[in-house]
Amino acid sequence: MLWKRGGGVNSGDAALNGPRSRREFVCRRGDGFVTLSEVSMKNLFLCLALAAPVACLAAERVAPDRLTVPPPWRGVHLMAPDGRQLPLVQRAIREKLAPLGVNLIVLEVNYRFAWRSHPDLADGGAITWEQARAFAEVCREHRMRLVPLFNCLGHQSWAARTAPLLTRHPEFDETPRIPADNRGIYCRSWCPQHPVVNTVVFALMDELLEAFAADALHVGMDEVFLIGHEQCDRCRGQDPAKLFARAVNDYHRHLVGRRKVEMMLWGDRLLDDTVMNYGEWEASRNGTAGAVDLIPKDIIICDWHYEPRAEYPSVPFFQEKGFRVLPSSWRNRDAALALLDYARAQDRGKVVGHLGTTWSGADAIARALLGEGGEPPGQVRQIVAALEACLKRLAGD
Ligand SMILES: [Zn+2]
Repeated sequence: MLWKRGGGVNSGDAALNGPRSRREFVCRRGDGFVTLSEVSMKNLFLCLALAAPVACLAAERVAPDRLTVPPPWRGVHLMAPDGRQLPLVQRAIREKLAPLGVNLIVLEVNYRFAWRSHPDLADGGAITWEQARAFAEVCREHRMRLVPLFNCLGHQSWAARTAPLLTRHPEFDETPRIPADNRGIYCRSWCPQHPVVNTVVFALMDELLEAFAADALHVGMDEVFLIGHEQCDRCRGQDPAKLFARAVNDYHRHLVGRRKVEMMLWGDRLLDDTVMNYGEWEASRNGTAGAVDLIPKDIIICDWHYEPRAEYPSVPFFQEKGFRVLPSSWRNRDAALALLDYARAQDRGKVVGHLGTTWSGADAIARALLGEGGEPPGQVRQIVAALEACLKRLAGD
């Protein structure tokens, strides 16, 4: 059912990325890395000429204050509101979520950010760098790990509206001949094999990490249905599992390899529905599941399931594969508690906590938590009730 949800720096920019080894410093330009020992004198001067903006960027970093919170994580996933609504959300964090023991916020930003590298990719109500810093500061004050989420590969449209990346760069579209109103599809995807797409995507990832002073990024990648599509000259006929794994590995190489942060990922495309029997949303029927054996094991899998079940076989499955698992629930209180309890009973040392998803604007969730703004809509009421029940269960009530 459709009721769930609803690089480097630009060519004109550069960053010294710190010591990669004892003897190398990396100068990052575009999507490539070169060590100083490899660059010509000409390029060395270019690096030096670009040092001033680099120094400015570094001065704005709050990276030294990054807060790594050890598990167990008591997490809440929030959909970024209009930036002007963030103070309301921050108040809910202080007054409600902190007392409930929350120590992880996954903030789904997507394109709702005032990108400095790509201003044309900002969605309406974009969060500014200053607002992001203020939000990060509140999370840090309350010892909450803040992980921005940027939907990669899939979810590039919602209903008739296409997100800014494919609107501005239709050449990245996996299905360029699907009508602009997205009739007949769930969500658009970008092509994981387009030679330029990652240059843009990595720059966006870098900005989110910097602005939110984050030590991890959630790359989304749930419900990717359009992959290896016949409309894509690069991907037509190729194995969806390998294509999905290629994308995961590209993002991992950038985030974990270059940026030295952790990576989170929704788990559904890694589950074979013929084995799991979760259905085509919570597991894969489109050939991507084999990717589970083709990606690094240090990725944290957010294993989302929203229906009540006697067993959630993906929880032991991901652990057996070597992954850490963050079980993720939604609005059905009984289902949320069932998943939480099952995962704790099945913990083989790799269940790192629990994540309550919300899938409503964080401003609406904040008002409901605070008991302000009148009676919340029924769904928001359910979401908050399920969330509070999980947090109390985690606190030992
Ligand atoms: Zn493609």
